[in-house]
Amino acid sequence: MIAHFKPIPPSELAFDIDGVVADTMTVFVRLARERYALNHLTKEDLGCYDLYECLDIDREVIDDLICLTLNDENTLRIPPMSGAPDVLTELSRSGPLRFVTARIWPESIIEWLHMILPEVDSKRIRVSATGSPEAKLDILKNMGIRYFVEDRIETCTLLAEQGIQPILFDQPWNRIPVPAGIPRIESWRQLRQWVLPGNGG
Ligand SMILES: [Mg+2]
Repeated sequence: MIAHFKPIPPSELAFDIDGVVADTMTVFVRLARERYALNHLTKEDLGCYDLYECLDIDREVIDDLICLTLNDENTLRIPPMSGAPDVLTELSRSGPLRFVTARIWPESIIEWLHMILPEVDSKRIRVSATGSPEAKLDILKNMGIRYFVEDRIETCTLLAEQGIQPILFDQPWNRIPVPAGIPRIESWRQLRQWVLPGNGG
């Protein structure tokens, strides 16, 4: 439980996109089935962030599936994580929403955010694309962010060492014990209690 944490001021909070707001790997699994007949594959099989390590699939096939998953066409087909659009829409009433992604080309995921958040003024959706997970640290520091929701354990650890409070968003690839001080949240419903306390629900 995270009840012992104080409410997070919205202005000090930012979000990763893939694996936190966007259920990106559901598209990876769907494409693996459609293009390569890997019908046995489920999201639960993605047991580590480095897919070459945890999937018994040729490297070229994994590379192709990652490229396909992240291309513009498929990015726009990614389902949001359950509950994310509602919580973000509510949160946007307190100020701009800030997203920091390691994607290099953020245009399609920005378009996607506008699509899943139709009630949020586009000026209230701010996206920084870093090109690498490690580069998130400086961007977040410069933005004055103190809390970051992220699904990659290594990024969470790096941020925690540098004084930014990571919140690990539970996914099959991060289900190993994490250092104390990195809380794990399992759903947007749970995150909501922390970022929108006292708003019912
Ligand atoms: Mg992510």
